[in-house]
Amino acid sequence: MTEVIVSETLAAANARLAAALRQAGRSADAARLLAVSKTKPDAMVRDTYLAGQRDFGENYLQEALDKQEALADLQDIVWHLIGPLQSNKTRAVAEHFAWVHSVDREKIARRLDEQRPDALPPLNICLQVNVSGEPSKSGVTLDELEPLAAAVMNMPHLVLRGLMAIPAPATSFEEQRAPLAALRKALERLQMRYPQAPLDTLSMGMSDDLEAAVAEGATLVRLGTAIFGARQ
Ligand SMILES: *Cc1c(COP(=O)(O)O)cnc(C)c1O
Repeated sequence: MTEVIVSETLAAANARLAAALRQAGRSADAARLLAVSKTKPDAMVRDTYLAGQRDFGENYLQEALDKQEALADLQDIVWHLIGPLQSNKTRAVAEHFAWVHSVDREKIARRLDEQRPDALPPLNICLQVNVSGEPSKSGVTLDELEPLAAAVMNMPHLVLRGLMAIPAPATSFEEQRAPLAALRKALERLQMRYPQAPLDTLSMGMSDDLEAAVAEGATLVRLGTAIFGARQ
């Protein structure tokens, strides 16, 4: 296997994002990369940070905590939890992350709110929506979204920033766009309902559907493979 040079793959990923934004007629700073570093060693995360990346996404709590400890000297690194979250693990998440993208139950949100230390800024939350309607997937349905959003809005240690989705794989660009458009419209409805809230985040788009996601308004594109290479 050839070794991945993250300074090069990161530059290529940023160029790909810039091209997608231009193609969509959006401004160059309308979306940014979230580097998904699950299963990759902390040395690789450090190299990516040194190449200019600040936002990193992790799926597994213990792995993330180990990396955070190894990289504690990187003061302005921003850690996002993007994987499923069990209610018995919320305390460590509330204490050690800046963002959680995978909130899909009020009980989890309530625990994060109660356990977020007062000394830290509010925890940034994206609600995960099951846009493709797959029965076994995480995420609320579009019908369940409104009451969950209303509950999170009232939690003082959380700040609702937007929505996240992992659509079912699709082959054509148009097929990719449909669920991403549904997520964008769901965010637009929340923005109309809560005009004062900082609802500025659409966490969508991965290595295979970045262009479709940017065309539909993604603001935070979660790239793993494209930056770090294939996972084992
Ligand atoms: C792993 C993962 C990604 C990155 O996927 P790639 O296809 O490697 O870019 C993005 N989002 C979530 C939620 C993930 O679990």
